[in-house]
Amino acid sequence: MLKGKVAAVTGSTSGIGLGIARELARVGADIVLNGFGDANGIEAIRSGIERDHGVRCVYDGADMSKGEAVRGLIQATVDKFGRLDILVNNAGIQFTAPVDEFPAAKWQAILDINLSAAFHAIAAAVSQMKQQRWGRIVNIASAHGLVASTHKAAYVAAKHGLVGLTKVVGLETAGSGVTCNAVCPGWVRTPLVEKQISDIATQRGITQTQATEELLAEKQPSLDFASPEQLGGTVAFLCSAAADQITGTAISVDGGWTAR
Ligand code: NAD
Repeated sequence: MLKGKVAAVTGSTSGIGLGIARELARVGADIVLNGFGDANGIEAIRSGIERDHGVRCVYDGADMSKGEAVRGLIQATVDKFGRLDILVNNAGIQFTAPVDEFPAAKWQAILDINLSAAFHAIAAAVSQMKQQRWGRIVNIASAHGLVASTHKAAYVAAKHGLVGLTKVVGLETAGSGVTCNAVCPGWVRTPLVEKQISDIATQRGITQTQATEELLAEKQPSLDFASPEQLGGTVAFLCSAAADQITGTAISVDGGWTAR
């Protein structure tokens, strides 16, 4: 389906981004991996994608908190492959605290990585995609791009901003062959959520299993996690011809979280 196309997935050394990179490779796209982690582990992921799917996979360690580095990743992709077809803005971090105790540095870091990085990547990528008359921009937002929870001022502000940015870019690219959409996952069991489960367990003096049940019961009516593979499938769908007319919108993969 995506043979000959090139996909850059930010924050793809772990969790949802890795699930998306693997699914796009499975359907034939060459991949630019990005994110932090131990060099041997990243090399194992990179070579594993090439071996398992017969595509090219390169790693770019650009820091998504730095606008110039984000733009550099896009430029390096175009220089290396001669094109960029799919951009998945996925890198993200979390920090929780009441708004009056929220450290300003954490607010800034979350805004930089979860929102501004997508702006810089899109700004650098969109003219290349328009020239090609085909492009897919997918912003990994969150249920928190649509509704709020306590103690997540920066995250909720950034994710709502990302959904807004998605709408603007959807309008600005309409009719050009480029689409821009947001995907809004509910709980997905990744390192980002494991930390929140551990925090609940510690604060309430309960087990990890009990904390997991509480986390799901509070928000996600299906009482089950969405998986990185399922999110990969959602992004692959948005890259298919069936999605040519889907743009400027937000697709929830949240087990019913935002239905109530
Ligand atoms: P994760 O912690 O497993 O992965 C985050 C990835 O981003 C890693 O590859 C990490 O190295 C990378 N990253 C972090 N800071 C970076 C930086 N400065 N530069 C480059 N890469 C950086 O988390 P995840 O749960 O897979 O989250 C991925 C995205 O999905 C995030 O945007 C997150 O907000 C969103 N999301 C997650 C959930 C969930 O339940 N896990 C739900 C909704 C939305």
